[in-house]
Amino acid sequence: MGFPISESTGILAAVTLLVTDDVYLEHQAPGHVECPARLEAILTHFRQRGLLKRLTSLPARDASLQELSLVHDPAYVEVVREACARGGGWFDADTYLNEHSYKAALRAAGGVLAAVEAVRDGRDRTALCLVRPPGHHATPLRGMGFCLFNNVAIAARFLKRRVLIVDWDVHHGNGTQDTFEEDPSVWYLSTHRWPFYPGTGHAKEQGIGNIINLPMDIDTPREEVLKAFEKGVRKAAKAFKPEFLLVSCGFDAYEDDPIGGLNLKPEDYRTMTDVVCDLGIPVVSALEGGYSLSGLGLCAEQHAEGLLAAGA
Ligand SMILES: [Zn+2]
Repeated sequence: MGFPISESTGILAAVTLLVTDDVYLEHQAPGHVECPARLEAILTHFRQRGLLKRLTSLPARDASLQELSLVHDPAYVEVVREACARGGGWFDADTYLNEHSYKAALRAAGGVLAAVEAVRDGRDRTALCLVRPPGHHATPLRGMGFCLFNNVAIAARFLKRRVLIVDWDVHHGNGTQDTFEEDPSVWYLSTHRWPFYPGTGHAKEQGIGNIINLPMDIDTPREEVLKAFEKGVRKAAKAFKPEFLLVSCGFDAYEDDPIGGLNLKPEDYRTMTDVVCDLGIPVVSALEGGYSLSGLGLCAEQHAEGLLAAGA
């Protein structure tokens, strides 16, 4: 990890870290929409736009069993390990495992941990974790909705600080809500299409006052989604005074997403990124959903530009 020295001031400038790993490409099932091409689409776009040169690469690591157990029942972790050792299988109609999935899932959770360690301990304030498999549907006891281990929830527990998790994936992060609905150290705010998979995320689901669900009808104009998001984040920050912010960063609210869609345009991810970065606390973002292979790069570019602007 390098710290570039600003030419004008000679002061060490903060950077935006990028965590990704080839192992994330090995988790796959034929014809499945949650596919390695999603990550490749983002990285190819970043390369073409010169973003890879501006982001500072940070190696991922594996999460330990102890770290996974901050959220997940060790018996469930063992189920995943064993299933992959046998060659894979399916948790439900959506959620697959192949022989590499355990390895990929350990490194997805560990990749986000590497980022939060670096941002917690260093001078860098922002990090983007392009990981797979995604995590926010995974509950303490089971995988579902393409998710095996809840990468963001594990990182939040690991931090042992007041953490605000902001989830702008088009689906509600039921696994994250399950994990924290009785834990006052973490607040969870989600904008999501509703009614929609997985069926949770009603505004009345408030945990112990630490869960903020902002369900959106499919026809909600994008301006309203953004306004509700900004208002919700500012209100939560004022009430909770978080020390650290994690983003469950799905891009499936993008208007042309094939399985989601909530009318958002790529530039809206810049707007939302600016809202979270304006809080002035460290921001670590981890990829969740997003399935438009033509739109993912555009949306992720806007998000990365926002993180870079905040880190500068
Ligand atoms: Zn999603």
